[in-house]
Amino acid sequence: MIKTFAKALACAALAAVAVAAHASVLQPVKVGDDIYALVGPLGQRDVANAGDNATFGAIVTPDGVILIDSGATKAGAELIETALKTITPKPVRWVINTGSQDHRWLGNATFAAQGAKIIALDVTVKVQQANAAQEMQGLNMLLGKTADGTVPMSSPDPLPGNEAKLKLGGIELELRHFGTGHFPGDAVVWLPKQRIAFSGDLVFADRMLGVLDNGSRVDQWAQTFKTFATTLKPEIIIPGHGKPCSLAQAQAQTGDYLDWLVREVQPAAQNMDDMDKTVQRLHASAPETFRKLDNFEGIDKKNITRAYLEFQ
Ligand SMILES: [Zn+2]
Repeated sequence: MIKTFAKALACAALAAVAVAAHASVLQPVKVGDDIYALVGPLGQRDVANAGDNATFGAIVTPDGVILIDSGATKAGAELIETALKTITPKPVRWVINTGSQDHRWLGNATFAAQGAKIIALDVTVKVQQANAAQEMQGLNMLLGKTADGTVPMSSPDPLPGNEAKLKLGGIELELRHFGTGHFPGDAVVWLPKQRIAFSGDLVFADRMLGVLDNGSRVDQWAQTFKTFATTLKPEIIIPGHGKPCSLAQAQAQTGDYLDWLVREVQPAAQNMDDMDKTVQRLHASAPETFRKLDNFEGIDKKNITRAYLEFQ
C-alpha cells in the first residue's frame, strides 16, 4: 500500500492504524515523483523486523532503483526487497549507505550479489569497518537465527572527501557528510532539484533518538544537525527513523532535543551536580514535545546519562 506524503502528514495517526492492520514491516510512502520512503517500525530490533526498525529510501529511475540504506541483516534486506516489489519490478542497481549503524549497511551483500553497486563516502566506510564485529554481535544476540547469513560488506571503492556529486539513472544527487551525527561518518543523500534529503540517522522523527557511546558526542550531533538544516533547507526529509517529515518537524523532534540536552546537561555535569538527581530532575521536567515521542520513557534517561558522562 502506497500513501502520498501529503496524506501521510495529514493523517499520521490514521496511517499508523493502517500500518498495524497491514502486516508488512516496511511501509512504502511516496514523497515525490518516483521517490519513496520505506518506513519501518519505531520500536526495538526484533525477529519480526529483522533489525529494520528504521526508515529507508528508494528512487526509481529508468535504469533501476537507487536504494538508500540496505537493512540490518540478510533477512532485513529481503524485507526491503518485498517492500520494493510493491513499488516497481525494476532491480536495485545502486545502494547508497548514509551511515554505519547496522540497518544502514549490513544488507549490502544481498544487493551486491544481485549486481548492485555499493556507494558510500570513505568517512562512513571507515566507521562501518571499525564497528562491524560489534554490530554483528548485537544482532546475533537480539535476533538469533534471524541474523544468519548476514555478511558485513562495505563499498569496495569508497568516495573521498565530505561531498560527492553523482548521476545515477539520470538522477542528480549529492552524498554529503556534515560532521558527526548519531555516529561518526554519518552522511545525507540530497536531491538538489527536488529539495528532498534522505538524512539517515542524523534525523529521528516520531520517536525519541538515542545518544550512544560510539565515538559521537551529543554536542557534535547538535551542531551537525544545524549545519545540515541551514545548508540544505530541505523541503522534505526522509529521516533515519519515522515517517517523512518537514524541516520544522525534524527541528522540533531532533534538533531541539539535542539542543535541550546540551543546554541542560552540560552545566550540571560541569558543576559536578549529582548525576542520578540530574537525570531524574531533567527527565521529569522534559518539555511535552519530547514526552509525546515514541520510546521517550525508555530512552530519555539513558540519553541524559550519556550526555552527562560526555560533558563530565
Ligand atoms: Zn538508526
